[in-house]
Amino acid sequence: MALSCIAVMGAKAEKNPYEGEIATWSGFRKGAASFTFDDGAPSHIADAAPLFEQYGYRATFYLVTNWNPDWSGFQDMADKGHEIGSHSKTHGQNMSGEEASSKGIIQSNIQQKYGCISVAYPNCNVPNTEAVLQNYIAGRICNGSWAGMADIMGKDGPSDWCKVPALMTGANGTISNTNDFTSKLQNAINSGGWVVFLTFGFIGKNNGNATYSPTDITAIAGALKWANENDDDIWVAPLRDVAMYCKERKAASFNVKSHSDESVVYELTHSIADNISEYDYPLSLRVLMPEGWADVKITQAEATLSYTIDAGWVYFDAVPNGGDIVLQNASLLALEQTNQDSNANCSKLFRDDHIFILRGDKTYTLQGQEVK
Ligand SMILES: [Zn+2]
Repeated sequence: MALSCIAVMGAKAEKNPYEGEIATWSGFRKGAASFTFDDGAPSHIADAAPLFEQYGYRATFYLVTNWNPDWSGFQDMADKGHEIGSHSKTHGQNMSGEEASSKGIIQSNIQQKYGCISVAYPNCNVPNTEAVLQNYIAGRICNGSWAGMADIMGKDGPSDWCKVPALMTGANGTISNTNDFTSKLQNAINSGGWVVFLTFGFIGKNNGNATYSPTDITAIAGALKWANENDDDIWVAPLRDVAMYCKERKAASFNVKSHSDESVVYELTHSIADNISEYDYPLSLRVLMPEGWADVKITQAEATLSYTIDAGWVYFDAVPNGGDIVLQNASLLALEQTNQDSNANCSKLFRDDHIFILRGDKTYTLQGQEVK
């Protein structure tokens, strides 16, 4: 197909004073990493989960529902934010048509915020992708089964959400020691991408059915320690979280609805609809601090959001389709509060599109500076 037209960009537009950006990855980190564990081993509960929690991280655990997993142990993990996903009902080839039934069984046994919305295929065989996409936002494979598939995804995730590639760890995989892990984490940081690891059981631990390709858990411990030391750069989160974030970020629009000296109203929306998820994972955002403002208060749907200010930008997380995001001039709010507290005679003066505060016989700017 020939190009019928080439769009020519105009001169660079003047900088929008209310400019906003959505971060590529949560917290404006440079890369993302997800650790996934297959086959529902007792060691996942006893050894893996506490290790991740020690560093404040969460992982993804894929259960075979007919293999009698310790539901209460995995429920405790889900309560702490780990993801519990499906690894089929019977571990048969091509899931044996168990896309929906295994999801249903997990959802009846495990309560978790987003439900059971990702799947890892048994034996790394991609099953009926239509059935996968009717039940899950993402399906995980192994890189070894797809010739030419990249180890590490780019910022847009996989080319096919039914084929999220993962690097297998342990005796039969390509990742054995801490350096193997950290070199991939560093690659994800350098490329702005997303790396997924696939682990079964651990050397010398109680692995139940997860006997394939045992991994040295101290290698993972070293990887998490490294990630923690590089937490400004690498986002470690369950596959579900990164998949939601990635899809939302790609589909989202972030715009200014209105602005005044008192407040700026932004809207963050997307129109993804797949009947599986509302895609309401918080996105990391930054907006320019409006000129002349010293501090802000940020709310979304009446809830106050936490934020940081750095180099003229205000950083915060907000939920797409979660209501208007309102940035208020905190100096003005504080001044109004002071006036209310002191019952002073106070009113606002609008002049030249600016607001000043009249208090007694004096006039103040929104920053509380007296205007002579
Ligand atoms: Zn398996």
